[in-house]
Amino acid sequence: MSIALTDVTRHFGVLAAVDGLTALVETGQFFTVLGPSGCGKSTLLRLIAGLEPLDAGRIALNGRPVAGPGLDLPPEARGLGVVFQSYALWPHLDVLGNVAFPIEAAGRRRQAARAEAEAHLASVALQGLGTRRPADLSGGQRQRVALARCLAGRARVVLMDEPLANLDPHLRAAMEEELAAFHRTSGATTLYITHDQREAMALGDRIAVMNQGRFEQIGTPEDIHDRPATAFVGRFVGRGAVLPVDVLAIAGGRARLGLAGAEIEAAAPPGLSPGPANLLLRPKDVAPDPDGLPTVARGSTYRGGEWEIRLALAGMPEADPLVLLQTGRPPAGPPPNLRVLGGWVIPGRAPAESDPP
Ligand code: ADP
Ligand code: MG
Repeated sequence: MSIALTDVTRHFGVLAAVDGLTALVETGQFFTVLGPSGCGKSTLLRLIAGLEPLDAGRIALNGRPVAGPGLDLPPEARGLGVVFQSYALWPHLDVLGNVAFPIEAAGRRRQAARAEAEAHLASVALQGLGTRRPADLSGGQRQRVALARCLAGRARVVLMDEPLANLDPHLRAAMEEELAAFHRTSGATTLYITHDQREAMALGDRIAVMNQGRFEQIGTPEDIHDRPATAFVGRFVGRGAVLPVDVLAIAGGRARLGLAGAEIEAAAPPGLSPGPANLLLRPKDVAPDPDGLPTVARGSTYRGGEWEIRLALAGMPEADPLVLLQTGRPPAGPPPNLRVLGGWVIPGRAPAESDPP
């Protein structure tokens, strides 16, 4: 079961909440949509689920059109499993009844369905809570019931909208493993929405980074992290700085660059041309060096086990600060000079983009 999106568009008044999205989620893929709050992720999920009408474009599931001009199949005719951002449980059923419901609906006998439901509850660490009502659970527990019910439904296509957002960090890590294991055994095509880049990296075969209703880049976690296509992706994913540079020359996948009055070299994507561009510098790409570029201190923060030291290049105080990671507390005195060891050139120089939250 694949999900094909073609120019999928949805407006609310003048706002293009989903703005011409095209992507193919192949059968069995775990595809994550990663983006900041308000970029249109939930709207996209609702369009695929059939809970929101399209303004333009087409959606097909396994090659069968389900939405497009003159076509809008109702949600129940699309055969999807959905876990929403706000857990929708049946309040009149107990927890076990909620999870057993899709199993019974698929024709299993009541006893067998409840036994299977127990196993799903155990997989989300809720064994023993089957007789509670949803109203008597915490938010995180309710979300896990919704997850268990979705797993029990055995849908071939599963849509999930930030299902782990309300969970404690330790539980979130355990649930990530459950989700990955479930995906491996079920092979269900999964579209997973999150604003958490760590979660997207851990779960996704492919990631679409979304911003203001559009996909900025679709690729593997490595593509997105190591070879961002836009300054937004470079800033939103991982730690680092995106700085304006001038591309002077390109040879063999390497570019010579002008940065803050110095000449440096960095990895370049195919098709890069000389002129203004952006350079992504992650912590591994810079090192203290007395002969390096002078810097201005921009603060430091203890991150548990290591210090994050932020340094702006002298002459570029308005640009993103470079990030240096070290185990010791930063010494008092003037900030170190920095040598650029590597980096990744992002074509074009977009106007200053707002920093992700
Ligand atoms: P996300 O899930 O990425 O946080 P949403 O898809 O919920 O984003 O919302 C995208 C944008 O569309 C937001 O600006 C939101 O305020 C707006 N929006 C969402 N639903 C509606 C609606 N029913 N009416 C008007 N605006 C909406
Ligand atoms: Mg949302």
